[in-house]
Amino acid sequence: MSPSRAHHDAGPHVVVVGGGFAGLGCARRLAKHDDVRVTLLDRNNYHQFQPLLYQVATSQLAPSDVAYSLRKLFRDRPNVDVKLAGVESIDAAARTVHTTDAGSFTGDVVVLAAGSQPNFFNTPGAQEHAFPLYALDDATHLRSRILGVFEAADRDPSLLDDGALNFVVVGGGPTGVETAGALADLIRDTMTVEYRDLAVSAARVHIVDLGHTLLGPFSEHAHDYVAKVLGRKGVQLHLGTAVTEVGAGHVALGDGTTIRTRCVVWGGGIKAPALAARAGLPQGRGGRIDVEPDLTVDGFPGVYVAGDVANIPAPDGGSFPQLGSVALQSGTWAADNILAEAAGRSRKPFHYHDKGIMAMIGRGAAIAEVGPHRHELHGVIAFSAWLGVHAALMTGVRDRVDAFIAWASDSFSSARGPQLLDHAEAAQIDWGEDAAPEPMTLREGDSAGRPAAAT
Ligand SMILES: Cc1cc2nc3c(=O)[nH]c(=O)nc-3n(C[C@H](O)[C@H](O)[C@H](O)COP(=O)(O)OP(=O)(O)OC[C@H]3O[C@@H](n4cnc5c(N)ncnc54)[C@H](O)[C@@H]3O)c2cc1C
Repeated sequence: MSPSRAHHDAGPHVVVVGGGFAGLGCARRLAKHDDVRVTLLDRNNYHQFQPLLYQVATSQLAPSDVAYSLRKLFRDRPNVDVKLAGVESIDAAARTVHTTDAGSFTGDVVVLAAGSQPNFFNTPGAQEHAFPLYALDDATHLRSRILGVFEAADRDPSLLDDGALNFVVVGGGPTGVETAGALADLIRDTMTVEYRDLAVSAARVHIVDLGHTLLGPFSEHAHDYVAKVLGRKGVQLHLGTAVTEVGAGHVALGDGTTIRTRCVVWGGGIKAPALAARAGLPQGRGGRIDVEPDLTVDGFPGVYVAGDVANIPAPDGGSFPQLGSVALQSGTWAADNILAEAAGRSRKPFHYHDKGIMAMIGRGAAIAEVGPHRHELHGVIAFSAWLGVHAALMTGVRDRVDAFIAWASDSFSSARGPQLLDHAEAAQIDWGEDAAPEPMTLREGDSAGRPAAAT
């Protein structure tokens, strides 16, 4: 231990696994207490702001706009040590965290805040061929693929017959809706102008979801509003329809349709990270760790779990949703309970300050349901609510949010266009053989002569 740390030894040493909203909320609260020593472990040396990943994927934001250096965030806090480390397993009884590349860490307290991972629901080919949108790397890979298909079709228009400009978004939840809306805007506002030699009007965005509505947790009226806005943007909806297979150049649907495409975005769901199963802790719904109302784990003193990876009991008998504000607040709450315990006070059950649920549906449209009685907001007012909640989330990460607010306002009012930057290798696509299932199916409503949702 460095001499500068010696005076911190009076308080607990807390090992935090994960620098997402929950881990950061916890570490930032603990960082204010000089007598507490924090070791923050993450496989990346940056925090990624997931709510804006789709903006990176659709070239509205640069990766550096949504990722913040963890070391920089704690530069002025000598009691917080950031370690770049992939966590392999946790010995919860010993409060020891084993990593693949940075040794082991034992704390007086361990906080598990490892988030989620995409769930492909064992859909054949999805893991190999679909693009999840969960991490910053996912967003940049997807961006390269989107730009790559446009560049390739620009060079060889015959690829249009191969579905080069068909984009299929799997999942009609907030991630799918926001991505589809942003993609449709990108195509309409930018690609049509910048790809002059290409028949960009042939491009199609599809959303496929097994459920019969978009944005399931929202009200009936909101479902209609979202469908209407996306419809206006030209997005084709395939609701009540399963994705049965994803191939290198197609998606097969449960209704027999095959859509030729080289770009399938997977917003189809999340599950607990693999680490949850290697922590020896009780797993409940979705493989997440069951926690007590105070965020501790029964039978494992000194272990807290917060954010997406935790099944946190909610007053209605279920568990709190996997949202940024739940993660941030539960991480901060875990820190408060750690401090209370260290001071000999009792821990308190987690109380969630509900900020509502909301989604942006491309430029100029947003939907929000706020307050205990879920008042529905649309358009600019909903966007303002979205902005308020996300600015609050961002202040959980860093202090300055003015650039974010300026960007968001520009983006909503379409004052600023996307930046289409990539390099040749990143945009390379293998246009080789694709074993699309037979028979090939035409769908109603597709453009004449060039079936968008068909092979
Ligand atoms: C595309 C997308 C859009 C979203 N939009 C919104 C939104 O608009 N509003 C909202 O409220 N919520 C939104 N969410 C949900 C929100 O982002 C999550 O609920 C929140 O990020 C969960 O925070 P967390 O700290 O639990 O996990 P995460 O933010 O996922 O952080 C987990 C951290 O743990 C690290 N980690 C994981 N495993 C390991 C390991 N084995 N070793 C080392 N480090 C590890 C990861 O690198 C990561 O930094 C969105 C999610 C996604 C994917």
